[in-house]
Amino acid sequence: MKYDVIIAGAGYAGAVSARCLAEAGKQVLVLEKRDHIGGNAYDAYDDNGVRRHVYGPHLFHTNNGNVVDFLSRFTDWYPYEHRVLGYIEGKTVPIPFNLTSIEKLFDPETADHLKTELIKAYGMERKVPILELRKNEDPAINQLAEYIFEHVFKYYTMKQWGYGAEEIDPAVTARVPVHVSYDDRYFQDAYQMMPKDGYTAMFKCMLDHDGITVVTGCDVMEHIRIDTEQHQVLYDGEAFTGEFIYTGLVDQLLEYRYGDLPYRSLEFDVQEETKGFQPAATVNYPTPAEIHPFTRISDYGMMMESCPEKTASAVEYPYAYSRNGEKGTVPYYPVFTDASKEQYARYAELLKDIPNVHLLGRLAEYRYYNMDSITERALEVCGSLIG
Ligand code: UDP
Repeated sequence: MKYDVIIAGAGYAGAVSARCLAEAGKQVLVLEKRDHIGGNAYDAYDDNGVRRHVYGPHLFHTNNGNVVDFLSRFTDWYPYEHRVLGYIEGKTVPIPFNLTSIEKLFDPETADHLKTELIKAYGMERKVPILELRKNEDPAINQLAEYIFEHVFKYYTMKQWGYGAEEIDPAVTARVPVHVSYDDRYFQDAYQMMPKDGYTAMFKCMLDHDGITVVTGCDVMEHIRIDTEQHQVLYDGEAFTGEFIYTGLVDQLLEYRYGDLPYRSLEFDVQEETKGFQPAATVNYPTPAEIHPFTRISDYGMMMESCPEKTASAVEYPYAYSRNGEKGTVPYYPVFTDASKEQYARYAELLKDIPNVHLLGRLAEYRYYNMDSITERALEVCGSLIG
């Protein structure tokens, strides 16, 4: 084996690690099961010139200048600030729910009262997770919190996760807090932009290094086995003593011996549309599944530097991940419950005495990383491997 490092997966975790280690002089082999690089950030152009995010919209945003510096070596950017509207009681209002949302949904007198109370309680430009807002005992704020819970979080979360908003880890709904502000952007990060030629082009450039060999269409599980008795990694039956960075499903790596970890999946119905078919790049449908069985509709053209006349819509339908099923066969999100976190910990425990195995990324670490946070994490892990 001529490689110092084997990496399973060519998404953010795998590609950033590969580049970082190759630049430190390592010979790196990247094995990617799919026939393309980029993981779920993979994008491709359709016949109308629309750049479609094949695994759903990916919006880059960060406050981390080091991450921007690193990624900027592989792409130019164009500014892009994502805006989302939610379909509530027949109207479309800003999500995260903010002061404008209140104005659009309540009569002027009630809206003024609610805004005044919110600002008095929290101050302007503050973000309040819905589960925290619901604890507020002021009658007006409490009533508003219940309204927002019902109309923004309750059904969307049930559709998205198959669990109620009070059953799932509170950090999940806290990603989209109520915003005491008129700022209608989905994110407030200092850097908000998209790679000029898309994510795939950025990944291609990142992986283009003499020290990196990428093999697509290759399932690492056909080569690697973790020997938990002898605490070693086997590659085609031989002990591999280099570093093994694994970015796939941790339960799969360990032959599902403690059962399947729950992941959430999505299916996308993508259709050609005319520019302007909906009023925002993404419209959320926080309505019950019986009314709208999907969570959101995005316009891929609106996420480009300029939107082509013929664009493409993507309707998102959440599913439980199933490795053998017909639908939901791509794992997207770990599903955080007390039971799943415990199950994950048992898997991780099996690897703790095998120092050349490194779990990295959403699937392997069972964490809800954004693109910037996994880039940061991969740089950190590889930094410590290089020493
Ligand atoms: N959420 C919701 N209603 C919305 C938007 C978000 O209930 O209109 C909740 C839901 O539980 C969702 C979570 O907030 O899964 C995080 O949303 P985000 O947009 O960050 O999800 P992602 O873009 O990562 O899929």
